[in-house]
Parts: sequence; C-alpha cells; structure tokens
Amino acid sequence: MSNQWQDLAANCQGCERCDLAATRHQVVVGRGNPSAQVLLIGEAPGQQEDESGQPFVGRAGQLLEKLLCDAGLDSARDLYIANVIKCRPPNNRKPTRLEIEQCFPWLQQQLELMRPPLIVLAGATALQAMLGIRGGISKLRGQWIQQQQRAYLPIFHPSYLLRFSSREPGSPQELTLADMQDVRRRLDRKDWPR
Ligand code: URA
Repeated sequence: MSNQWQDLAANCQGCERCDLAATRHQVVVGRGNPSAQVLLIGEAPGQQEDESGQPFVGRAGQLLEKLLCDAGLDSARDLYIANVIKCRPPNNRKPTRLEIEQCFPWLQQQLELMRPPLIVLAGATALQAMLGIRGGISKLRGQWIQQQQRAYLPIFHPSYLLRFSSREPGSPQELTLADMQDVRRRLDRKDWPR
C-alpha cells in the first residue's frame, strides 16, 4: 500500500468528527486492492465489521463474497470495498445525514487516490450519498449510470439479499449475481468511460 493510503488509513483511524467515535471499537476504512478498477461502496459497518476493522465480513459480507466469487470476481484482487460511513452506528441503525456529511470526505479521499472507473453502489445509502438519488434501489439496480468519467452500478444491498435464499430467475440474489457478472464483463473488456 502506498504512503498516501497509509496516511489516509492512519488519519481515518483517529477520526473524531462525529459522535460515532465514542461508541465504535474500530474505524473500518476498507479492504481489497486499492489499485483495482472497481470500488464497491456499502452503507456502514455492522457489529462484526466494528470488531474486526474490515468491511463486509459478517453474514451480509459472506453472501457478498459468494456472489463475487460466483461471478469470477476476487475481492482481494479485482475490487476495493469501502462504506459511506466508516464507524458503526449503534444497533446498526441507519447513518444520519449529519454522520454521512461528516464522514464523506474520507470516501472522497479514497476516490481521489483510487480513481476507479467503475463504482458499485450497494444499497440506497450509497446511491444517495454518491449520486444524490433518493427513493431506493429497486428501479435503478442493474442499470449503469455514467457521470464524469465514471460508471456507477446500483445493486441490492447484501443485507437485503439475506432475506431471500432462492436464486430462481428474477430473484434478488439471481439479479445481483447477474449484476456482478456484468461488472466482470466490463472489467474483461476494459469497458469503462475514459
Ligand atoms: N453492511 C455494510 O453496508 N457494510 C459493511 O461493511 C457491512 C454490512
């Protein structure tokens, strides 16, 4: 990891911009390959993430890993994974607007260092924080949105997918697998805005 990433991680670890600093155990900066072409953005750490310091390692994370793997994506090589919010909101409540605003500069720094051409937005919080689009994910999931040299793909949040076990055609898991396969295809073809 470059010095810039190390500095960012160290500064982020010491962050006290919002009240979540008082209740968190660990700041969850990100994991994966900071030189990858794909950034996946989730909402906020849950309990296991707060304990381990790594994003998406709990039940939702395990399902995410499985879908990535089934689509031929390796989270350590092909992606970097981060959240809109770097600290766990108590009881896994949704982050507030103020928490998102105060935390957003960390994600912006990650974007500036990484400059990913492809960005996967997992869930409504990531969609709203990155593109200002409100109203949930169902209408937009699976559709690439191109803005300023970047292509964004909204997908269902993995926690939502945990409610459905089936992978029948048209099921949320099957649709998300198709979305991941689309990411794989774009990576293989180096098909991104330039
Ligand atoms: N949900 C998220 O949005 N991020 C995590 O890191 C874990 C669960």
